[in-house]
Amino acid sequence: MRRAGAEYNSLVTEAQQPRPESMEITELRRLKALQPDLAAAADLQIELLQLQRRVQSRVSLPTIRLDSTYLTERLAAGPILRYEHLRIDWSDLRFLLRATATAMRTHEALDPADLRKADLITRDAERLPPFVCAWFNGTAQGADSLPPEVAGLESVLLQAMRPVLTRAADAVLARVETRTWGRGTCPVCGGEPDLAVITPAADRLLICSRCLARWSFEPITCPFCRNADRSRITSFASRDGRYRLYACDVCQRYLKAYDARSASRPVLPPVDSVATLPLDAAAMQRGYK
Ligand SMILES: [Zn+2]
Ligand SMILES: [Zn+2]
Repeated sequence: MRRAGAEYNSLVTEAQQPRPESMEITELRRLKALQPDLAAAADLQIELLQLQRRVQSRVSLPTIRLDSTYLTERLAAGPILRYEHLRIDWSDLRFLLRATATAMRTHEALDPADLRKADLITRDAERLPPFVCAWFNGTAQGADSLPPEVAGLESVLLQAMRPVLTRAADAVLARVETRTWGRGTCPVCGGEPDLAVITPAADRLLICSRCLARWSFEPITCPFCRNADRSRITSFASRDGRYRLYACDVCQRYLKAYDARSASRPVLPPVDSVATLPLDAAAMQRGYK
């Protein structure tokens, strides 16, 4: 038995030779070297990407019918995916939730009380699915109600659900055209954007904070309240011109954008969310949220 086990393990090791580092991790390391103040946040992000990568390759396709006509019909009625469409491997998700919460706590990005909450919801296999469902529905389309057991764990759930959600979004987006969507929330999962990219053609694509789907949206309008009055949108660029911030003086919310017009790489949400932390601080200092 022992011998067979050893042989099996050596095969596994051989099949899992370290893959070349992703562009995201390379860029995070570069960012860390250039801006030492962001080192802690970059290290946490690297750790999260590595955790997600461990489960990524075995995430299943969503159960939704993946045919273009059907998906286009669903899109006409609202965001395409429902919670029931997601195929979640619960032991992978429990692992990711625990490891994400621990990593965030280590980097002081999570309160001790919230770490205990994460431990509680992952301890009981029966109780976890309704909490994940409540998170999925409660953080979509401006809904703002979460059961107390998961309130405070939004970013833990978001990171842990990322492999499942991005897999589902990629499968859906390969088969449906979202150009006519026009709403400020995600056409795939109903999540809110927290980053955008300005394309070389000067279009603005919003990026879902949950599934990373991208969709085009008016270049100035606030995606959260649809305020389109330019005089009530404060927009400014970061010192290096790489990023832009749009803050809405009606709903007080803001959105960051990566300006790809003169950039040497594409937008990379895990990297750009860390690189724009100083912009978040600037926006919050001015009273935006
Ligand atoms: Zn989404
Ligand atoms: Zn607004």
